Amino acid sequence: MSCSCDSGKLQPFESGLAQLVEAARSVQETEVVELQEALGRVLARDIHSTLSVPPADNSAMDGYAVCAKDLEEGKVFSISQRVAAGHQASAIQRGTAVRLFTGSEIPKGADTVIMQEEALIEGEGVRFIGEAVKGDHIRKAGQDINIGDQVIAQGTILAPQHLGVLASVGIADVSVYRRLKVAVLNTGDELVMPGMPCPQGKIYNSNYFTLSGLLTRLGCDVWTPGIVKDTPEATQQALAQASINADVIISSGGVSVGEEDHVKAAVESLGSLDLWRLAIKPGKPLAFGEVKGTPFIGLPGNPSAVLVTFLMLARPYLLKMQGAQKIEPRRYQVCAGFDRSKGVSRKEFLRVVVSAENGQLLAVPAHSQSSGVLSSAVMADGLLIVPEQHRVSRGDILDFIPFSEIGSI
Ligand code: AMP
Ligand code: MG
Repeated sequence: MSCSCDSGKLQPFESGLAQLVEAARSVQETEVVELQEALGRVLARDIHSTLSVPPADNSAMDGYAVCAKDLEEGKVFSISQRVAAGHQASAIQRGTAVRLFTGSEIPKGADTVIMQEEALIEGEGVRFIGEAVKGDHIRKAGQDINIGDQVIAQGTILAPQHLGVLASVGIADVSVYRRLKVAVLNTGDELVMPGMPCPQGKIYNSNYFTLSGLLTRLGCDVWTPGIVKDTPEATQQALAQASINADVIISSGGVSVGEEDHVKAAVESLGSLDLWRLAIKPGKPLAFGEVKGTPFIGLPGNPSAVLVTFLMLARPYLLKMQGAQKIEPRRYQVCAGFDRSKGVSRKEFLRVVVSAENGQLLAVPAHSQSSGVLSSAVMADGLLIVPEQHRVSRGDILDFIPFSEIGSI
């Protein structure tokens, strides 16, 4: 791992991310959970179907099954059978119609369904109006999934639609990677927990809640020693305890090189650390190392810098550790809805509001982009990525990551 801390030069975001992801070791342990409990978990094996979905040809409509060859204008068909969904059909008697419903199995020998809106009951029989074409309104066996198809790949984070597809092939439980245990350390003598009085000079610890929320969305179990005081001893003690209790340690604050920033020295005394100065805004100081063998990521202290560095750097790292295949958020292209004549030397992740205007998606920065301001993230729909030195003109096409991609904020 290279350390760019002394070079004075900022390290590009992409190389920081690549280094981080390269270092992530995926957990190997798996557990079997019921489908009901599998939401958000990472699938540990490819799943192939042992059956076809649907298992047999069935009707897409309420109506009548016939053999197309028997159709002739004005003919009244007798109704030889009634097949409700879930009930067995016997072969069609040629020249007759079979009453059926959406999902009913198509009787052997029938090849066309005529919907009931095109059927007129005549006494005991039925006459069809309109043009029927052979094969109409039949859902073929296997049109969804065929026997042997891979339905979901190992490394997929299971969303509701994955659970539905797994259920459709009869799977009741799945093998998933075990949950990660993540320690969250919030450093700072100024911090107090919400619910407590906030005397002069103190602020509430917001980073814990942002981080534990983001981690919970990722399916991690969160452990915290509570607020960590700005002393070498308290920082060392919290780190040592975290290394025993967790698979990964994430801290916020204390990674700059001020007199009250003890994280760097404490991690170095218990393990090793690189301090990166990344060319990103908000963000910049980011520490990465290990405490007694447990990976450690030190995020900055400012609340919006925490949000951005977690989403863009820590999240892909944790996803890889969890065994997920797709670890980077999907980007979409939107138009800048603003001008800014000055370029910035760091890649920016602006909190933006996106709206549709004249068929275009326009991104406009939320009220404040200060790294200490979190409320603008609440207004925003996601992060707009402005490349280094880019002067923004209205209409520029830029990458946008919606918060919905990364767990709504
Ligand atoms: P630091 O990196 O420790 O110098 O912190 C940078 C800024 O972030 C300071 O203004 C801190 O007060 C603020 N900060 C640090 N940790 C937290 C936290 N857990 N919640 C809210 N603000 C914080
Ligand atoms: Mg601090």
